[in-house]
Parts: sequence; structure tokens; C-alpha cells
Amino acid sequence: MLIDYTVREPIGVSGQIIPFNYPLQNTARGSAPALAAGCTVVLKPSPEAPLTPLEIGRIALECGLPPGVLNVVPGDGETGAALAGHPGIDQVTFTGSVATGIKVAQAAAANVVPSVVELGGKSPVVVFADADFDLALGAVAASAFGNAGQTCSAGTRLLLQRGAEEFLDKLAAHAASLRVGPGLTDPDVGPLVSARQRDRVLGYLDLAREEGATVSAGGGEPADLTLRRGYYVAPTVLSGLTNQDRVAREEIFGPVVTVVELDDVDEALEIANDSPYGLSSYVWTRDIDKALRMAHGIRAGQVHVNATGVGTGVELPFGGYKHSGWGREKGLEALASYTQVKNVCIGFGNST
Ligand code: NAD
Repeated sequence: MLIDYTVREPIGVSGQIIPFNYPLQNTARGSAPALAAGCTVVLKPSPEAPLTPLEIGRIALECGLPPGVLNVVPGDGETGAALAGHPGIDQVTFTGSVATGIKVAQAAAANVVPSVVELGGKSPVVVFADADFDLALGAVAASAFGNAGQTCSAGTRLLLQRGAEEFLDKLAAHAASLRVGPGLTDPDVGPLVSARQRDRVLGYLDLAREEGATVSAGGGEPADLTLRRGYYVAPTVLSGLTNQDRVAREEIFGPVVTVVELDDVDEALEIANDSPYGLSSYVWTRDIDKALRMAHGIRAGQVHVNATGVGTGVELPFGGYKHSGWGREKGLEALASYTQVKNVCIGFGNST
């Protein structure tokens, strides 16, 4: 007789490297499933936002987590590279840019350890002419301009059906009405994380002008001169683009929406998928047939239909297709990354 059973075991030590944006969420979404699966974690925060992860580490100790179970090690890219390639690491979870993600995945592969890489995005927002524009407006603006556009899943690539030009006018007016200011004043749109990030976004706005974009809102630093000492960019809408323009294809990571027009569902799918990225996506229509064709045709890890943000709950799997990465964080799917499968076969009597 044989008895055979399968167990899942903790994978071991998880090395985690996170970006500057959403330091609370990015610390929690990697370390929580790893700890729940029985792993230990060594987490390296971004040098631009190390304080929240350090505080979580301190609170974890205060809550009784044994020392050495959740380790927060601040540092720069060199520290990250040392962690990703360390022979004592059994699994790597990386969140950040595509360029760094490739290096981290290569370092993990060199030690034959698995990796989860959560990378950048330029997520399409398809607004059909039959959409409820009033419902869509606040949601589209919140997705694109929230956190000053420094959100991996931000819907910043507006694909607008011809006939829905009224939505562009509404979005441009809404963007122009948003109050930009320091976080402590509870503005609609706060600052970018650094001078480097602001200059990167302003560089894209220069490029947009070279590419012939129409600046429908914003287009540079805010008019309020008192904000010039900080790292602010006015919420910006760039229209009149094609999907081949660099500003319409590349991740800007600032409060900038690009607008490309299209005719029908076929073209919407073609343009939505004509992107190196595939992280999130958004579809606005009252037509269930269009909604389902888009939902199943878009190559992205998430599709929102007449919704935004609600799909980011901790119970829902999150991750990318194509250059937006591989593996899933959150949801039950995340636990798979932090466990190994072992099969045990026991023979009794004369059976072998
Ligand atoms: P980044 O790639 O510059 O840095 C990310 C982290 O990697 C930082 O901690 C950095 O110190 C570290 N690092 C740098 N070089 C390294 C190396 N050679 N080896 C190992 N680690 C190294 O990214 P960023 O500018 O901090 O964050 C913005 C990017 O993150 C955007 O592209 C955004 O879309 C992406 N992001 C993705 C998600 C997601 O869930 N898919 C979530 C948030 C942010």
C-alpha cells in the first residue's frame, strides 16, 4: 500500500525591494503574505521613502514579531542589487521600474530563485461615446491625477471614441479646476516625490510639444509662484496625439493624461493592446457587449469596467502582463509565491 500526500512549505527568506510610491501598501502587500506563509522577509525600501517601512518594522517588533522575521534594510540601488543577488535569499519580490526589474530578475535567476516583478504601466482608459460621462469624469481624473500621477496602475492613456469629444472638454476643465499644493493643506493634487521626478515629467511635456500635442490643460509647473520651490506639475491633458507618439506610449509617472482618438471597439482593442505594458485598464461604456469584448480582449492584469480603484483591494490578485511584470501580489494567488510544493510518498509492507 502507498500513502501519498502533498504539502506546501514556506519558501524561506524573501528578499523584497520596493519603489518610492505607496511605501505603506508596497511594504504590506509583499511582507504580509510572505509572513503568513511562514517565511522571513528582508525588505529594502526606496531611498526616497524609507521612513514608513522602518516604522512598520518597529511596530512589528512592538507587536511581538520575533527579531529577524521582518527586517527593513534601507539603502540605494547598490543595496538592492546586493539583496537580489544574495545566495541566502530564496525568493525575490520586486516592485519598481522595468529597467531595474530586469536587473533584479536576472540576479535572482543567476541563483535559480524565483521572482515576482511588479513593474511600470501606461494603462489605457477607453471612453466610448455611450459612456456616462458624469460618472466617468471624477473616476478618470482620480486615477490619473491621484498621488500626482505617481501610481503604477494610473489610467493615463485616454483612448476616446470619436463622438465623445465632450468628455475631453469636461476632463480638461476638471483638470484645470484641481487645487495643487503641499500635502498638509489637503490639496486635490500634491507634489512629485523629488526634483528628479518633476524634471522627468517636465521633460515629457517638452517632448509633447515637439510631437505636436495640443495642451488642453496644464502643461507645466503651476502658475502659483509659491509652488515653484516644490516639485509640482499642474494636472495636464495632452490631446491630438497618435499612439505612436512617445508621450502616448511611455510611462511619465506624473499628473499627465494623453488622449488618442479611435472609431470603434476593434480599434479600441488594437490601440489598447499596442503597448509594451499590460498592468491595468479601464473601460467606460453602457453597452455590456462592448464591455465584455474589451474585458476579455485587453492584455492586462486588471480590467475595470465603469469603475476605478475598487479593483485594488487586498483580496484581489494584482500584477502585470508583458513588460508590466510577472507573478501576482495580493489575493490568494500571492501565497503561491511564498510556498514550495512537496510531495511525500510512503510505502507500507512490501510495496515500494
Ligand atoms: P526604481 O526601479 O528606480 O527603484 C525601485 C527600487 O529598486 C528602489 O528601492 C531602488 O533603490 C531599487 N534599485 C535600484 N537599482 C537597483 C538594482 N540594480 N538592483 C536592485 N534594486 C535596485 O523605481 P522607482 O522610481 O522607485 O518607482 C517607480 C516605478 O515603480 C514606476 O515604473 C512604477 O510604475 C513602478 N511601480 C510598479 C508597481 C506595481 O505594482 N506594478 C507599484 C508601484 C510602482
